[in-house]
Amino acid sequence: MPVIVDLEKCKGCEECLSSCPFDAIIMREGKAYINEYCQACMACISMCPEGAIIEIERESGAGTEDIQAYRGVWIFAEQREGKIASVAFELLGIGRKLADDLKTDISAVLFGASQSHAEDLIKWGADRVYHSTDRIFDNFNDEPHADLLYRLIRENRPEIVLTGATPIGRSFFPRVAARLRTGLTADCTSLEIDKDSRNLLQIRPAFGGNIMATILCPNHRPQMATVRPRAVSISASLIPAETEDKPPEPVAAIP
Ligand code: SF4
Ligand code: SF4
Repeated sequence: MPVIVDLEKCKGCEECLSSCPFDAIIMREGKAYINEYCQACMACISMCPEGAIIEIERESGAGTEDIQAYRGVWIFAEQREGKIASVAFELLGIGRKLADDLKTDISAVLFGASQSHAEDLIKWGADRVYHSTDRIFDNFNDEPHADLLYRLIRENRPEIVLTGATPIGRSFFPRVAARLRTGLTADCTSLEIDKDSRNLLQIRPAFGGNIMATILCPNHRPQMATVRPRAVSISASLIPAETEDKPPEPVAAIP
């Protein structure tokens, strides 16, 4: 988040709350805080009578490298108690369309669960699965998830990374985006591609749902978003492939 509240200056007047189209400002113990929903629109800065809301400079990092070096669409396939969450299959449908528009491939990332679950993701449309069977992922924990996803993104440079807007996705995706110094759009209900720029058009409700906002991350990669479960139905065209036609070799074990 390139916008923060200077807690020394904040008087807790709550003037800023209604200025945010993304409900990204919350009150905590009498002070304003800006959370991961912030889209850096800067609308709140002039609203604070104390000058407590300030813009901070982004440090250079992964996001400012040559964005042309980033290719491919990734979805994080959330698993709970060893079973892949249905939102992962919804994301495969969304991601496949985005990948086709970009003329690239789609990969799934799976931490925990079994080899057969990784192979299911291939059957449901992933070209490749990055799979860790480390027992540390049997139960969700922010830090190991953030550490490994960050490492994989740095090594492989996908241009788009999606996950479900679930408690798990909301919990660790902001950490990964912050480490990568890139943008994260929360709670998207639709995603499209601008084919000329390869930018991801991240569409989500704003101003309490009264308008739909389209958010871009044109200068940093990867473009990261969480997607509301059931925002799209599992595509009828996304039929699981027969194992004989699409063998499970593309599952890559993460060392
Ligand atoms: S408007 Fe400024 S002083 Fe008032 S709550 Fe928001 S940040 Fe704090
Ligand atoms: S989204 Fe805009 S108005 Fe809301 S906190 Fe971020 S910069 Fe301020």
